[in-house]
Amino acid sequence: MKQYDVVIVGAGAAGLMCAIEAGKRGRKVWLIDHSKKIGEKIRISGGGRCNFTNIHAAPNAYLSQNPHLCKSALSQYTQQDFIEMVEKHRIKYHEKKLGQLFCDVTAQDIIDMLLKECEEARVHISKDTAVEDITKDSEKYVLTTTQGMVKAESLVIATGGLSIPKIGATKWGYTIAKQFGHDLVETRAGLVPLTFTDEILGFCKALTGVSVDAVVTCGKTSFAEGMLFTHRGISGPSILQISSYWKEGDSITINLAPHCDAKAYLTDKQKSQPKQEIHNSVAEIVPARLAELICEQHNVKGRIAEISRKNIEKLATAINNWQVKPNGSEGYRTAEVTLGGVNTNDISSKTMESKLQENLFFIGEVADVTGHLGGYNFQWAWSSGYVAGQYV
Ligand SMILES: Cc1cc2nc3c(=O)[nH]c(=O)nc-3n(C[C@H](O)[C@H](O)[C@H](O)COP(=O)(O)OP(=O)(O)OC[C@H]3O[C@@H](n4cnc5c(N)ncnc54)[C@H](O)[C@@H]3O)c2cc1C
Repeated sequence: MKQYDVVIVGAGAAGLMCAIEAGKRGRKVWLIDHSKKIGEKIRISGGGRCNFTNIHAAPNAYLSQNPHLCKSALSQYTQQDFIEMVEKHRIKYHEKKLGQLFCDVTAQDIIDMLLKECEEARVHISKDTAVEDITKDSEKYVLTTTQGMVKAESLVIATGGLSIPKIGATKWGYTIAKQFGHDLVETRAGLVPLTFTDEILGFCKALTGVSVDAVVTCGKTSFAEGMLFTHRGISGPSILQISSYWKEGDSITINLAPHCDAKAYLTDKQKSQPKQEIHNSVAEIVPARLAELICEQHNVKGRIAEISRKNIEKLATAINNWQVKPNGSEGYRTAEVTLGGVNTNDISSKTMESKLQENLFFIGEVADVTGHLGGYNFQWAWSSGYVAGQYV
């Protein structure tokens, strides 16, 4: 039976980083993935350019039932540390907006960088390899894999979340966590478009492709970013962000013209341009097609001077305080992340080691830590992978 110091299951962002760090320490590492290609999620991320970190990454950009868990890892390996690796490999990058760093050319640069680092650290990588069974004898993990049985001192679960099953996502990591006594925090799709089935769906469909800067609020949380109408509902950065805070049955409030008090603006217009058609006045604060549909939906038409105060208020509410109740989300098929996962109360924040099983580690998205949109999820993968790599 082959012997390794460390077996890491899942060669995504977190698994690769952990393998590099463990290998650098002289540990004999086997990094395995059941997919035919390594780092597929990195390759498709950021529209093919990988938003690999965020210069503002900090614990307050992460959701978890245990919000303290991510603090230690994020401070042990920061965005600056990852940027240094990117610069060492002469990968060109830029800040797109809001501290989000993207490759100038292609996400493949990040995969190539990680694979080169793995090679230098003498990590043994196997693709197309699955684990059929895991047991633990007195001190080692015994894995039955499609390449035979192996023994490992340390076992790292880095199998990610459930999003995009067609490129390899599985619930295997959760099953292993349960096998070794860990609780799971219920999972659901995050950073995902929201959908409707009621009359709002028709409204969204008619606006497919229209985008607007919006402030979107759910409960006490708000995001100010772009929003996009789609043939299923609403999407765009502000919606993806709020989707991680939204639960079935919740309403969300959308301000479609955050820089304008629509009531005051339209009331002024009644005096300054009394002959203007109402939809043209509204089109000065939101996109024209949206303005038309808002007026149509509320059955308000004619010259602005002739519009009643009540109707001006109705339109202003529809613009600045539009309340909608999504019926669901597009789910794991399109979600960027999975909320929930292995409960972090039983994971050491310093090392990412299980508190229940010696030498068992959970890193990256399989754990209940989910970042905001904008490079935060990769930073979590790098940081948690790095930390575990020091202790496996
Ligand atoms: C379309 C899309 C775009 C994204 N863009 C960004 C972005 O630009 N910036 C950002 O920060 N985040 C982005 N994310 C989120 C980010 O990709 C993830 O948070 C991150 O990849 C998680 O890293 P991980 O290593 O934990 O898991 P993953 O990268 O998902 O890796 C898990 C690996 O485990 C393997 N695996 C799963 N089950 C098994 C099994 N049973 N046996 C063996 N191997 C298994 C999988 O094949 C996979 O290679 C995006 C996600 C998606 C879906």
